[in-house]
Amino acid sequence: MKFRIFEEYPELKYGISEKSDGAMKFDAKRRDAYFSQLGKATPYVLADVVHGTKIAAIDMGNRGSALSDTDGLITQVGNLFLTITVADCFPVYFYDPAARIIGLAHAGWRGVSKNIVKEVIKVLKKSGGGGENLLVGIGPGIRECHFEVKEEVAKIFGTKEKFINLSGIIQGQLGGLGVKTGNIEDSGECTFCLSDKYFSYRRDKLVQVEAMIGYIGIKHD
Ligand SMILES: [Zn+2]
Repeated sequence: MKFRIFEEYPELKYGISEKSDGAMKFDAKRRDAYFSQLGKATPYVLADVVHGTKIAAIDMGNRGSALSDTDGLITQVGNLFLTITVADCFPVYFYDPAARIIGLAHAGWRGVSKNIVKEVIKVLKKSGGGGENLLVGIGPGIRECHFEVKEEVAKIFGTKEKFINLSGIIQGQLGGLGVKTGNIEDSGECTFCLSDKYFSYRRDKLVQVEAMIGYIGIKHD
């Protein structure tokens, strides 16, 4: 998965593991192996996602830890990777190249319904970022083609539609917060559709959730 909007920033390292890399949620050893195999034996911080909207601004002091009750991370510190696990929920990647601040959020339907991207931008602004240069990439997640919801959930989004376009809603929320359309990019990948590439909570009817790990970091030599 690549974002064109991030292309001109080689210092920015980001991505998401694939099914072939293994399940990442409950396996710290596997995560360590994954990051070192990428040539990124870099400290990382994991947000222990709970479908809330708490965003933590972190630094080197948090390295190696998993932050509980947290669905998004931001940092200005280089060589420190922000990570979250996902399997249908969207990883949303933030980079403000002027302020050199990164962010990563876990956006499932609950997070989207609570406008989690707004919370991320709030915290970015507190750290001097989140201005007009802000770039946002939306990673793989469950798309309208497969995200069928019950009436109660549709109601939360103010619709009677059976299928919900979460990525479209996220993009609308970002636009409402002043992020330029040209600065938002959607990977377009559906975790449910791409059964060879990604785990999907809904497709695989997972009990113990198998998940990918999304990451972003600013690498300095
Ligand atoms: Zn699909």
